[in-house]
Amino acid sequence: MSEPATLADYSTLLDRVVAPEGEGREILDAATRQVIGRVPVQTAEELNAAVARAKAAQPGWEALGHEKRIELLLAAADAIDANAEALARILSREQGKPLNGPNARFEVGACSAWLRSNAATVLEPEVIVDDENLHAELIYKAVGVVGAISPWNWPMMISIWQIGPSLRMGNTVVIKPSSNTPLSVLALISVINEVLPPDVLIGVSGPGSIGGRLAAHPDVAKVMFTGSTEVGRKIIESSAGNLARLTLELGGNDAGVVLPGTDAKAIAQDLFWGAFINTGQTCAALKRLYVHDSVYDEVVDALAEIAAQTPMGPGLDEDNVLGPVQNKEQFDIVKGLVEDAKTHGGRVVVGGEPAPELGELFYKATIVADVTDGVALVDEEQFGPVLPVIRYSDVDDAFARANAADVGLGSSVWSSDPEEARRHATRMQAGTVWINSHGGLHPMVPFGGTKSSGYGMEFGVEGLKSVALPQVVSGPGRKG
Ligand code: NAD
Repeated sequence: MSEPATLADYSTLLDRVVAPEGEGREILDAATRQVIGRVPVQTAEELNAAVARAKAAQPGWEALGHEKRIELLLAAADAIDANAEALARILSREQGKPLNGPNARFEVGACSAWLRSNAATVLEPEVIVDDENLHAELIYKAVGVVGAISPWNWPMMISIWQIGPSLRMGNTVVIKPSSNTPLSVLALISVINEVLPPDVLIGVSGPGSIGGRLAAHPDVAKVMFTGSTEVGRKIIESSAGNLARLTLELGGNDAGVVLPGTDAKAIAQDLFWGAFINTGQTCAALKRLYVHDSVYDEVVDALAEIAAQTPMGPGLDEDNVLGPVQNKEQFDIVKGLVEDAKTHGGRVVVGGEPAPELGELFYKATIVADVTDGVALVDEEQFGPVLPVIRYSDVDDAFARANAADVGLGSSVWSSDPEEARRHATRMQAGTVWINSHGGLHPMVPFGGTKSSGYGMEFGVEGLKSVALPQVVSGPGRKG
C-alpha cells in the first residue's frame, strides 16, 4: 500500500471541506472570534441522498471481510498521523482547545490510536451450548447503516469512537457533527476518506434538525449519539419509528469523593486535570468534588494554586494549556452558575469571572468553595472551567450526596490508601469509578453511562458488540 498523503498544511486541508464563497455558514475561531471559513449547511434532501449512498455501499463494505477492513482502518490511522498537525490546528481554532496539554494534538493522536485499537480488536463468535443434542453459537454481523451524531467538546475523538467500531464491523456510517464544530470533523473525514472506498463514511453538516432526521431515517439501523440528555431523549422518541438500536452517551455531573486523611498535595494535580481537562468541557470530567473536613482546606488551596498558575489563552499559542469556552451559549451557562453560587454562599477562591483581556469567551479557571448540594453549580452540569468543592464530615453522607444526581457517567474516589478507596468505589452509581484519577479512558476498557447519562457501551469488545447484529446459529449437537 502506498504511503498516506500529507496534505500540505492547515489551509489546504480546510479548503477541501469549506463551502464555496457565499454559501453555507460562517464558523468562528473560538479564541479570536475571527472567521475561519464557511461550512456547508446541508438539506434534508442531501441527508436522504447520503443515507441512500451509504446504504448502497454497505453490502460491498461488509463483503470485504474483516481482514481487508482492518487493513483499511490501519491505513486511515496512518493518514491521520500523516496529517496530524493540520488537523490539530483546525481543531484548535474551531473548538478552542490549545495545541498542547491534553488538548488538540492529544485528541488527534487519540483518533489514530482508537482506530488502531478498533482494527486490532476481535469479536469472536460465542459458543453458547455445545453438547450431544445442540450446538448453538452467537455470531456478530453488520447492522447496516449507522447514523452517528457527535458533540462539540471532543469533536474528532468522539466521532472516531462512533466511526471506528462501526466500520470495523462492516457497517457504513453517515455522521452529523455538532454545528459548533463541523469543520474539524469534516476535515478528519476528508483525511480518512483518502483511503476508504467511496460512500463508506459520509459527513453531513447541518443543524440539530438534520441530526433528528438522520436518527429517524428508515434506512438507519443503529444510532450512535453523544450529546446532551435532552437531545438523547428525542433520539429515543425517534427510534420508535425506525426501531434503530441506540447507544446514548449523554451528559454527566461526575462526583469525586476525597476520603478522610488524604494527602492533598499528592492528589492535587490529578484532581485539577480530572476537572479542567479541555477547559472543563468534557463529559466525564470531575464536576463536583466532595472533600472530607479533615483535608478540606488543604485540597481547596492546592487546587486554587494550580488553577492560578495554569496558562490560559488562544490555542495556537504553544504556551497555553487552557482555552476559551467553545461557544457563547455555554459561556453564559458557566458565568450564570458561578454568579448564582456567589449569591448562595459560594466562596470564589480563584477566578470567578470572565477574562475579556484574553478574548470574548474566556472564563478564568475557577474554584468555588463552601457551596453545597441544592446550589445549581453543584446540581447541574457546568461544562466549563469551574469546580465546586463541597465539604463533608460523614463518609456515608458524601456518597449519598454524590449519588443523588439523576446522572451517572463517571465518578472517582480519592485516598492515600488506594485499597481503602477501592473498598468504597462500587458505592458510586456511575458507569465508571476511577481510583485516584478521573476521566482516563482506554480503547479496550468499556465506557458508558447509567441513569440519565445514557445506555450502551463503547470501546473494546463491548463497543464492537454495540454496532453489530447478534445472530444465533443453532444446529445438531455432537451426536447428530
Ligand atoms: P447537544 O445534545 O446539544 O448536541 C449533540 C449533537 O446532537 C449535535 O451534533 C447536535 O447538532 C445534535 N442535535 C441537536 N438537536 C438534535 C435533535 N433534535 N436530534 C438529533 N440530533 C440533534 O450536545 P452538545 O452541546 O454538543 O454536547 C454537550 C453535551 O454532551 C454535554 O451534556 C456533555 O456532557 C455531553 N457529552 C457526553 C459524552 C459522553 O460520552 N457521555 C461525551 C461528550 C459530551
